[in-house]
Amino acid sequence: MSGPRVVVVGGGLAAVRTAQALHDLGHRGELLILSAESEPPYDRPPLSKNHLLGTLPDDALRLLPPTGYADLGADLRLDSQVVALDPAVRTVTLAGGTAVPYDRLVIATGAGARQLPALRDRPGAFALRTAEDSRRLAAVVREGRPVAVVGGGFIGLEVAATARTRDCPVTVVEAQPAPLLGAVGPEVAAWLQARHVARGVDFRCGTTATGAADAPGGGERLHLADGSTVDADAVVVGVGVVRDLDWLAAAGLEVDGGLVCDEAGRTNLPDVFGAGDVVCHRTERGPVLIGHWTAAGDSARRAAHAVLDLEQPSLPDDGFFWSDQYDLRLQFVGRIAPDAEFTVVDGDLESDSFVAHYRSGGRTTGVFAANNPRGFLRSRVELRKARPTVAEVAG
Ligand SMILES: Cc1cc2nc3c(=O)[nH]c(=O)nc-3n(C[C@H](O)[C@H](O)[C@H](O)COP(=O)(O)OP(=O)(O)OC[C@H]3O[C@@H](n4cnc5c(N)ncnc54)[C@H](O)[C@@H]3O)c2cc1C
Repeated sequence: MSGPRVVVVGGGLAAVRTAQALHDLGHRGELLILSAESEPPYDRPPLSKNHLLGTLPDDALRLLPPTGYADLGADLRLDSQVVALDPAVRTVTLAGGTAVPYDRLVIATGAGARQLPALRDRPGAFALRTAEDSRRLAAVVREGRPVAVVGGGFIGLEVAATARTRDCPVTVVEAQPAPLLGAVGPEVAAWLQARHVARGVDFRCGTTATGAADAPGGGERLHLADGSTVDADAVVVGVGVVRDLDWLAAAGLEVDGGLVCDEAGRTNLPDVFGAGDVVCHRTERGPVLIGHWTAAGDSARRAAHAVLDLEQPSLPDDGFFWSDQYDLRLQFVGRIAPDAEFTVVDGDLESDSFVAHYRSGGRTTGVFAANNPRGFLRSRVELRKARPTVAEVAG
């Protein structure tokens, strides 16, 4: 064994990508992955799509085959939640009290689903962050049975689309006047909402869920702030994520909604790095948090380079993400400034195949595409030429 003893805390994409990058970069020292989960790391995007639909088995979710960790020289320890960090003696402590020493530490603890206090104790209310969440929900989202979705974000809308595929009557409750307004702007939000309505989704926008009780016919009766109710077998709560930062802050790490890191994943403590959804970047717009698959993998590669004191790799840094809803492949890159001007540059919204640019300050800052991967790629390459930083494009 040569090289520092690297401990990665987390059991998701960022943890696995960190281990892979360290191995690829020639690290042959000890490598330990401490995951709070009971099952080996898996991919989350399918949890609201084909895994929830039941067409993708658990095995196909795994990020690496069973032998993959040994191949990387990594020791994966499941059921190993880290609860404390002592930077003075360079140890992390597991929930059972065991102290684990490190030379370099990577925090890749991601995020958890935000709960709605009003629905916290309801048996028919579901979060969707883990494979177990998806399995539990799949057992309730049965052919033709009603589903309510609280929160019209990407995950909520993906669940709505999946449930419609099973012929479930679906109601989406969204506090804003339209779903995804902040993320994609009013033009795309209206277009996407119309596509869901055309497939039978009922929207209750501009209102919130205030509580739930047993529905007379079984399941949940969801109460909304506008006085109306929705009966459903399952209420899926998709209202964003929270990061578990207390133990990080207690160790002296800077946190601001996420673990504050520079663009290479370095924290304010020596030899402690961050990767994936847990990370936040400080910008003049305030803290920027990124919660997307590609960014999580890229930040892991950056952190791995920093761990090994290597020059940073050249990665796009462009805030890319995608979403699949029905037969729509949605892709986005960059960011939308509050004063952004929206222009369709290829195709049209009516045909469900288009590329649109968001322009601000005389330049394109964001690109959205539906069912037009080639056009999207062209625009993405153009956008990338401006060499935006993570902090400029994300959030
Ligand atoms: C349902 C769903 C659908 C998604 N779809 C898309 C999509 O279509 N496109 C897209 O771009 N992105 C999508 N995403 C987002 C993407 O999956 C995330 O950005 C990515 O999973 C982030 O990886 P991560 O490793 O940083 O965090 P996570 O995946 O959250 O993994 C963190 C891991 O760390 C573990 N952990 C936490 N705390 C501790 C601790 N103290 N000790 C030990 N282990 C700990 C957790 O148990 C977890 O296993 C989706 C996410 C979800 C939930």
